[in-house]
Amino acid sequence: MPLDIEAIRSQFPILRREVNGRPLAYLDNAASAQKPDRVLDKMSEQARTAYANVHRGLHTLANETTEAYEGARSKVQHFINAPSPETIIFTKGGTEAINLVAAGLAADISPGDEIILSVYEHHSNIVPWHFLRERHGAVLKWAPLLEDGSIDMDAFREMLGPRTRMVAIGHMSNVLGTVSDAKEITALAHEAGAQVLFDGCQAGVHLDIDVQDIDCDFYVLTAHKIYGPTGIGALYGKPEALKRLRPYQGGGEMIEIVETDRVTYNEAPHKFEAGTPPILQAIGFGEAIDWLSQFDKQAIRDHEHALYARASSELAKVNGLTEFGHAPGKGPILSFSIEGIHPHDIAQLLDRYGVAVRAGHHCAQPLMTHLGTTATARASFAVYNNDADVDAFIEALHKARGMLL
Ligand SMILES: *Cc1c(COP(=O)(O)O)cnc(C)c1O
Repeated sequence: MPLDIEAIRSQFPILRREVNGRPLAYLDNAASAQKPDRVLDKMSEQARTAYANVHRGLHTLANETTEAYEGARSKVQHFINAPSPETIIFTKGGTEAINLVAAGLAADISPGDEIILSVYEHHSNIVPWHFLRERHGAVLKWAPLLEDGSIDMDAFREMLGPRTRMVAIGHMSNVLGTVSDAKEITALAHEAGAQVLFDGCQAGVHLDIDVQDIDCDFYVLTAHKIYGPTGIGALYGKPEALKRLRPYQGGGEMIEIVETDRVTYNEAPHKFEAGTPPILQAIGFGEAIDWLSQFDKQAIRDHEHALYARASSELAKVNGLTEFGHAPGKGPILSFSIEGIHPHDIAQLLDRYGVAVRAGHHCAQPLMTHLGTTATARASFAVYNNDADVDAFIEALHKARGMLL
């Protein structure tokens, strides 16, 4: 069934506002997506009608809230086809999920152990591993990119070895849109005896994720890029991987027994959810998944790709403009620069016309170095974007270029 984009847009109240006297063209979805009424209403309704702290409750509101919170966990489970709800840990976002894994592995890392990343990783999937380098002597290795922005799989294969402990790769690049070959990377890494983590912060909203088919050890999601709230994300871990992983934070809920001279830990997922979790946000995450799941993801991909392709072909006509990232099957993320103009100036001028794009290093400085630049401008597309957004973007870009050159 084709998507009714106007009907979808009407569910996002923010899309009705104007910016600088122009209709908003929100093309900063890779940084954070807007939220539909259904998600906003769900969190508000939960707080108004059935709210208390979760777990161990012996009263009605505690039980109802726990049911909704654990229900959200099941929704995340099904969203990525995880084998059980116990394999899903709620975190405060993608960043915390990766830090949780890196910190939990730290004590098992010996000097010279190797961690393989790709050149296009987001800082969230770099810096936690740098901690292991700085503090535990791990060696970071960087899988290089081919000309089109895809990972050089031959070079990656060569990097794997008996010292490889972890391969941590973005399932989709937030700058280039590149989709990595998750199954192949996992199979190769497992052959070498390494664990595999995919940063799915971008992929989650665009691709059909099946963690059992990929066979990865860890998979990371963030809700605020899937039309959900901020402050909540999820880490999937294979049961045996979670069993081996040391707990990240200590506190309530994650323990079994606490005595003055010893402590034992609860099972996953609770072992990794110390303290009161972001309850309403988790429930909002579940609602966002339900909202998104009513649509055919292939139809969404087709729609988003058509917007991307329309913008990309118009940009190709602009003198001095370079687009970064042409890997086959890439996501709807369009990074570019224009000779002689700083990307920040592009973004600021586009804003005058109500067009929201991002400019900067996009938390991917090693990639910027690889591209030979310090910043790019980036337009990224969501299900609620339409042709008018693309046209506003292109028209504003021509005006901005005329003003700046
Ligand atoms: C946004 C993003 C992150 C960080 O996720 P947060 O939930 O914002 O912490 C990590 N990796 C990639 C690829 C991202 O796009």
